[in-house]
Amino acid sequence: MAFEGLADRLQNTIKKITGKGKVSEADVKEMTREVRLALLEADVNFKVVKDLIGRIKERAIGQEVMESLTPGQQVIKVVKEELSDLMGGEQSKIAVSDRPPTVIMMVGLQGAGKTTTTGKLANYLRKKQNRSPLLVACDIYRPAAIKQLETLGAQLDMPVFSMGTDVKPAEIVQEALKEAKANHNDYVLIDTAGRLHIDEELMGELQEVREVAKPEEIFLVVDAMTGQDAVNVAESFNEQLDVTGVVLTKLDGDTRGGAALSIKAVTGKPIKFAGMGEKLDALEPFHPERMASRILG
Ligand code: GDP
Repeated sequence: MAFEGLADRLQNTIKKITGKGKVSEADVKEMTREVRLALLEADVNFKVVKDLIGRIKERAIGQEVMESLTPGQQVIKVVKEELSDLMGGEQSKIAVSDRPPTVIMMVGLQGAGKTTTTGKLANYLRKKQNRSPLLVACDIYRPAAIKQLETLGAQLDMPVFSMGTDVKPAEIVQEALKEAKANHNDYVLIDTAGRLHIDEELMGELQEVREVAKPEEIFLVVDAMTGQDAVNVAESFNEQLDVTGVVLTKLDGDTRGGAALSIKAVTGKPIKFAGMGEKLDALEPFHPERMASRILG
């Protein structure tokens, strides 16, 4: 399960302090030291940890805790709130254009789960919000990716727009938007090309697609299992494309949790959804508060 090591360590640390009738500054220092180590071990970005621990310490040795009747419980509350805030506080919604279709552009490295997530998101929009999306295949470099999206569309019984591998992505999008209007699709989900690494050509192409698509959302799909790399990837994509949100995939695996805890702080962009498996219904809105509770027990 995701976060197992981190959750175990933090819960052990917390047990030591919850029952205490009185909490000293030394107790707080000891606790924050252990929280710090646990977070670093979970591959959370160093600077993120430093800032977070600073905030926890300041609040934990402040009045709010020290003058409380249950200081042990209060300290935990502080840690939980800070972890939740770190991941972005309130859960975020998907934008809706007042002039349909609403366009969502999916971007990310190859293998991150972009095509699968495009299918999952389409399924989510239909099931939870009664929408009728059009899926658009823009990965012209990998015929297999187009085929994969078409297969997902068939499974979902949803239309997939593709023009093969010889037409430029920006042009495909232009045509897809016409098609969506003609067929009254209220969402257009664009599955773009990914590479194994970020390169200028890819970014240039994605910027061209963005120009034409004028998306309400640009969702960056990143693999939670890749830890710090996921955070670096998110930073670069965000710099080039100004994404609106992140979808963190493979949170059902045994990720240490570093990406989930660092991405919002490093990029300023919220994690909007979590991929929890390979199936088409394995996509959940990301709730920072619930995630913090899960980690702290
Ligand atoms: P793309 O290259 O970014 O389009 O990646 P794909 O959508 O092809 O996904 C790559 C692999 O990751 C596939 O085997 C997917 O089934 C798998 N995958 C995607 N999302 C998740 C997830 O949330 N959990 C798990 N366990 N596997 C996932």
